[in-house]
Amino acid sequence: MVSFSYNNRLAIVRKLSSEKYDVVVIGGGITGAGIALDAASRGLKTALVEKNDFAFGTSSRSTKLIHGGLRYLKQLEFGLVKEVGSERAIVHQLAPHLVVPEKMLLPLSDKKGLGYWLTSIGLKVYDWLAGVSPEDQRKMLTKLQTLKYEPLLKKEDVMGGAIYAEYRTDDARLTIEVIKAAVSYGASVLSYAEVSGFTYNDDNVSGVQVQDRISGAGFTIQSTAVVSAAGPWVDELRDINKSKAGKYLHLTKGVHIVVPRSKLPVRQAIYFDVDDGRMIFAIPRGRITYVGTTDTTYEGNKDLVFTTLEDAQYLITAVNATFPSVRLSVSDIESSWAGLRPLIHEEGKSASELSRKDEIFESDSGLISIAGGKLTGYRKMAERVVGLVIKRHFGDRSLYPCKTNEIRLATHSFASVKQVRKFSQAIVETLRGLGLGELAAHYLVENYGQQAEVIINYAGKPSPGEAEIAMLKAELWYCLNHEMVCNLKDFFVRRTGLVYFDIHKVLKWKEVIAQECKDYFSWDDARTSRELTELEGLIKELTNFG
Ligand SMILES: Cc1cc2nc3c(=O)[nH]c(=O)nc-3n(C[C@H](O)[C@H](O)[C@H](O)COP(=O)(O)OP(=O)(O)OC[C@H]3O[C@@H](n4cnc5c(N)ncnc54)[C@H](O)[C@@H]3O)c2cc1C
Repeated sequence: MVSFSYNNRLAIVRKLSSEKYDVVVIGGGITGAGIALDAASRGLKTALVEKNDFAFGTSSRSTKLIHGGLRYLKQLEFGLVKEVGSERAIVHQLAPHLVVPEKMLLPLSDKKGLGYWLTSIGLKVYDWLAGVSPEDQRKMLTKLQTLKYEPLLKKEDVMGGAIYAEYRTDDARLTIEVIKAAVSYGASVLSYAEVSGFTYNDDNVSGVQVQDRISGAGFTIQSTAVVSAAGPWVDELRDINKSKAGKYLHLTKGVHIVVPRSKLPVRQAIYFDVDDGRMIFAIPRGRITYVGTTDTTYEGNKDLVFTTLEDAQYLITAVNATFPSVRLSVSDIESSWAGLRPLIHEEGKSASELSRKDEIFESDSGLISIAGGKLTGYRKMAERVVGLVIKRHFGDRSLYPCKTNEIRLATHSFASVKQVRKFSQAIVETLRGLGLGELAAHYLVENYGQQAEVIINYAGKPSPGEAEIAMLKAELWYCLNHEMVCNLKDFFVRRTGLVYFDIHKVLKWKEVIAQECKDYFSWDDARTSRELTELEGLIKELTNFG
């Protein structure tokens, strides 16, 4: 098990500032994490620095699907569909507890969307491009069958439907697992470390200047190659490198709202058409259903991206038009998240028409930047970037073969879904003994895989009244010691996702968890109350619109 904690921070900073690296990666979202794992596992001496927490940016604010991207078929991006389609199966194999098969219902109407026959052919092509196994291939449905799958749909509008295969995940957990895998291959990885400049040798980039946002100290990392995987911030770094010319980013905002499942009790994930020609997901997850997304050009502060009343109303209107008996209102929203797509600007195209393909920029001084792409395609993007790094600096690529398709994510990963199910059942039984329900068990297994057992063992045998907080404290203990949690938000937002999926639990236990953190980090009272104020401020942003 990787020991990856705040207590290692000083040693990591010392190493980063005193040794020379083959490659330093800027940005600890899924793209940077993937590149660090790919590089480290090919034998390159690798560093990664992230200015906030891992997955702070887009990689904790996606729709949380590992999907082939049906909409890209509409845009005739066959190459993209094929690549991300086949990647789904690989990423699922690497982390079957975290990348979980999910059937998606696609209702069809004669007023909106592609219609029955085009959808049928489209989904067939989609399955074929993605190499979906015969038993999982799309099934076309009659009107009656579709309404049986989802009785909440507006009956008059439904003329049929389709069921097809996708996978759901937790983007931030996927990112932290890839980060931990990179660390296990020897990468030096630091969060709260912002790149503020570059160093040069004969006009070639030779390293990065870093600001430690926890200690306030600055230091330099020397490296043969420098890769920027800064997502929406890529152009800022190109600016610092004086290489922002030609293509540039066009950021679009995507919002998701969270409502109690009882308010939107869809039976399974559903992808439906909206009047303006876009499509929206409604995805049930534990005790909630989340709905998204929007797609609007964004030019505001990239560090503070939140849902506005207008965003929320757009999604509520779409839900109410599709599921008329539901009658959602803004007051039903219990949480939300908003993320930025780092897309490449194309003249004359609207936000939702822009390609989701990734693009690599190389500056004259040798800075390699990558932007665009999908969570789903992170492994292939990383393979391409590291291939380029090797070509530019280390010669023969065949000496450094990519092997990330074989590196399982998570400690003691499962070999199959069957194994995950068996393990989950055992955890359900154990937690039942503590008075906790099935949802608690599935949450633990999907988040931590086999490490769920380690967490449960740490919690010991609390009485039923104490079980919920004992488990939460045990989760915190695990994340502090193995997942580099540095503050309350790291834990509640990106390691557990509780601010999105179970906000009541955060409100109930935040003071107790803050006290645990106070003891672990030796915070004084002022720091502890500042941490709580910041968490409460964030909760306000996620829940109050307007
Ligand atoms: C609404 C929405 C829904 C989506 N849904 C899906 C989906 O369901 N499936 C899918 O496959 N894809 C989806 N995507 C796309 C996917 O989420 C992104 O492609 C992916 O998360 C981008 O990851 P990234 O690592 O490139 O960027 P980010 O996750 O933003 O990471 C960049 C990191 O760089 C750091 N950074 C910036 N500047 C510096 C600096 N100077 N020094 C150090 N660090 C720095 C940032 O803090 C940030 O953490 C969605 C995107 C959006 C917006």
